[in-house]
Amino acid sequence: MDISFFSRGIKLSRQVTSGKIEQIPPSERVVLPLQQGSGPPAELSIEIGDAVEVGQTLARGASNSGADLHASISGEVTAIEDLHFPNGTTVKALVIEGDGKDTWIEPDRDDKPLIASPDELLERIRCGGVIREGGETKSLAQVIDEAMSPRGHLFSTGSTVAKPVRHIAVRFADQDPHLNALAALTATIGDETADLDLGVKVLAAITGAEQIHFVLDNKQNSPGVDKLAEENDYVVLRLDAANYPDLSSPMVARAVSGKEPDTAFKRVHENGILVLDVDTVLQTALAVRDRRPVVDRLITVYGPAGAGVFKARLGTPLADIVSAAGQEKNIGKMVLGGPMKGLAHHTLDFPLTKEIPAITLFAQNQVTLAVNDPCVGCGLCAMVCPIRLTPGMLSRYCEFSSWDLAQEAHLFSCIECGCCAYVCPAGRSMVQFMVQGKTELLSTRRSES
Ligand code: SF4
Ligand code: SF4
Repeated sequence: MDISFFSRGIKLSRQVTSGKIEQIPPSERVVLPLQQGSGPPAELSIEIGDAVEVGQTLARGASNSGADLHASISGEVTAIEDLHFPNGTTVKALVIEGDGKDTWIEPDRDDKPLIASPDELLERIRCGGVIREGGETKSLAQVIDEAMSPRGHLFSTGSTVAKPVRHIAVRFADQDPHLNALAALTATIGDETADLDLGVKVLAAITGAEQIHFVLDNKQNSPGVDKLAEENDYVVLRLDAANYPDLSSPMVARAVSGKEPDTAFKRVHENGILVLDVDTVLQTALAVRDRRPVVDRLITVYGPAGAGVFKARLGTPLADIVSAAGQEKNIGKMVLGGPMKGLAHHTLDFPLTKEIPAITLFAQNQVTLAVNDPCVGCGLCAMVCPIRLTPGMLSRYCEFSSWDLAQEAHLFSCIECGCCAYVCPAGRSMVQFMVQGKTELLSTRRSES
């Protein structure tokens, strides 16, 4: 395999799709896990046997900032079952059997949402079930809350320090150039930028951000987005999406601020920069103005037959989406997410959740097994690591359970981009070593506290 890389990343080919978004019809049965993204599961607000309409709240987000969960089809809630996630966790999930009517809850539109207080706007985002994608999937209200809450910093005085959000960066292209959903969504915006405009202004009103940045791939043609930026004095940043991971949140934060981001414990937003995908911003507009909750999501399906972008209701069986993409034959391996950062899963009998931006499929003859040979010390991984870590050493510390050494070598700053694994001639499972190390250290810390 020819590998093309540059200092702090690798060169990947952009995946070309038709640029269209295909709508997948509502399924007869959906399965909705109570936990969508990180954080505790939402608390049930309906009962088995209840009839529900599309958009009806099924469960209230845990704590004051957890995202609510909504029905994605109309019908009857028939069961709560265990759902096994690819990361090994098991989560309770609601089953809705559809009535085929696709009846929606009554809209409750507010034509002047910007008059509402920042707290009210944040609550509408939480109630709308909006999540922050493009990183650790999390309730957007929770991300904003964390980014803005004061924090005890000064150990000697016990004083708290406010953490203002100074910049919001809106990303219009996927971080992984194999995926195309955000570019396809941006193409549909055209000159109809009212929702984008509202979403950005709502987020600026809540956070008090001083500067908005629109981050696009340098190959994107987006006159409507450019015009909106010009009218509002937003900064337009054009990056090369083929230079992976230049569109990841830490690298966008670096481009915005000109400084190295603090990536430890995924703290990019604590540097005063909130990086959000364009679909999150559009969902924000719908949640605050139309009170329309999140009941569907965009997904790229990328496999041997090419790539396509689809929109499907949450809870739709992945088998239905793969079949709509015409890629159901000769599947050797499936990855939930893109090829660089996704997690392998063994079954298509799994529902679409807010955490799944893509399905990557490999044909049987494309599947290779990780060899995990010993590190030969070639240093390629250190060259491509965007965070300037020493992945070879880190992987060895984790492989041999030297957890303290791994922590001292900044294991928690790893953004799990997969560049090191991509170039490693020894075929080492680099990201898996890093994830295992973080999991061990966090569970030790929890048991000691
Ligand atoms: S996965 Fe972590 S260690 Fe490897 S290149 Fe990415 S940031 Fe660096
Ligand atoms: S690329 Fe692989 S073999 Fe080379 S130093 Fe890194 S871990 Fe070791």
